[in-house]
Amino acid sequence: MSNVSDVIVIGAGVIGNATAYYLAKKGYSVTVLEKSEYIGNGGSSRNGGGVRQSGRHPAELPLVMYGVQNLWPNLSEELGMDVEYYQQGNLRLGKTLEHIKILENLTNSAASGGLDVRMIDYGDAKEICPYLSEEVVGASWCPTDGHANPLLTTLAYYRAARRLGVRFVSGEAALEIRKIGGRARQVAAENGVYNADSIVVTAGIDSNRILASVGLKVPMNPALLECLVTEDCPPMFYQMLGTAMADFYGHQSKHGSFVFGGTTGFEPYTSGVGVPPATPSSAPGTCRGIIKYFPVLKDLKIVRAWAGYMDDCFDHIPVIDTPSEVPGLVIGCGFSGHGFGISPTAAAVLAQLAVEETPVMDISQFKYDRFKVRG
Ligand SMILES: Cc1cc2nc3c(=O)[nH]c(=O)nc-3n(C[C@H](O)[C@H](O)[C@H](O)COP(=O)(O)OP(=O)(O)OC[C@H]3O[C@@H](n4cnc5c(N)ncnc54)[C@H](O)[C@@H]3O)c2cc1C
Repeated sequence: MSNVSDVIVIGAGVIGNATAYYLAKKGYSVTVLEKSEYIGNGGSSRNGGGVRQSGRHPAELPLVMYGVQNLWPNLSEELGMDVEYYQQGNLRLGKTLEHIKILENLTNSAASGGLDVRMIDYGDAKEICPYLSEEVVGASWCPTDGHANPLLTTLAYYRAARRLGVRFVSGEAALEIRKIGGRARQVAAENGVYNADSIVVTAGIDSNRILASVGLKVPMNPALLECLVTEDCPPMFYQMLGTAMADFYGHQSKHGSFVFGGTTGFEPYTSGVGVPPATPSSAPGTCRGIIKYFPVLKDLKIVRAWAGYMDDCFDHIPVIDTPSEVPGLVIGCGFSGHGFGISPTAAAVLAQLAVEETPVMDISQFKYDRFKVRG
């Protein structure tokens, strides 16, 4: 098989698969190189599935709002597979006045960016979700937020890309990007050499290993995130849930299980190498938070817990850019633990950058050269 295509995408997570899909949809030939034997073996198959606009960094708000308005609602139909997208709103809950202050600040910031999000009291929140604890005093409410199934979304983009002729080579780690005539044109991988007119790096936390070969580095760290899934139960509520203090976030999935994510405080003490096991303290800690807000869930059994690394960028927003240092190269990494919700838009933009089209929106806040060294 020919190792020449219009574009090479490095990394078959949700961002890489979706970028390949949008490129193929435009008629370009694409090769995707994936280090693992499996596609989606990074954060994309381990995340909590939040498709959330509220509580976003203001720079990311246009990306996610574009996706929620234009891409997510038709994604299952477009990709020919149910990605279990639910758009039933997001309740971010508070129990104290300090919590309410935090929620008000988040709400004001998002509302000034044009998002329909507002503060509601306990009574209104209880009407939306009757299972809330009486300890809750108020919440922010964003009716257009939602969630989707990350494994299915990653798989759906992969399958749709394959149907359009994208070549996926798994078990093929990209080692080095090579310039030819001053432009990134070649990838030396473990088992072969691949040529293209442009190269997109979407290798999550491992992106820097590849970018180092052309002298680039995105300031990001591996940070541990953990999730758990409960046994299934009858349909109760399908809002996305969160709290002012980010004790936990989660939702009920289509088949009835609840998927929750949370942080433990032990995240900095992990190695950042390989696939991390879930830490013993995480699920119990997350559950203690959940039960205070949703006592009705206290007897649900946890079926499984897992962990994954996020590519946490210095300023917690991604790099989506064509760095001027390396013509022909496109970078899409540093999604900092919230890349799933923006994946359709980020990938659509990466596909545009790869073929030198004008991006559908202003992405100047995601430039590679925004990190200045202090003098
Ligand atoms: C536990 C957890 C919960 C999360 N919850 C949410 C959430 O609720 N909402 C949200 O929006 N986001 C969430 N995220 C973040 C989200 O999962 C990521 O931002 C997103 O999946 C990033 O996708 P990606 O394709 O960039 O990276 P990844 O999914 O990490 O994919 C990168 C791929 O590149 C491959 N690769 C690496 N090196 C090479 C190489 N040298 N050559 C070839 N391939 C290579 C890897 O094997 C991998 O398959 C969560 C993350 C975690 C870990």
